[in-house]
Amino acid sequence: MEDRRPLGGAADRQRTCGVCGAEFRPDERTEVEAFTDGEVRYVAVHPGHTTHSPGREQAAARKLRKMPGHAA
Ligand SMILES: [Zn+2]
Repeated sequence: MEDRRPLGGAADRQRTCGVCGAEFRPDERTEVEAFTDGEVRYVAVHPGHTTHSPGREQAAARKLRKMPGHAA
């Protein structure tokens, strides 16, 4: 069994959740999210916390549909 995290170090470097900002406890499980900000970056988050907000994506999609010349 491998106990290495594939993108290990993100949580250790960061120490806080990229979504809610709360500190990770030493034994806390974390997930790593990838996002692009000109380049691909990784951010450690609590399990279930996500930087990909469905609400935000839906709002963005609605805005796009309302744009003139962008008929759905
Ligand atoms: Zn969090």
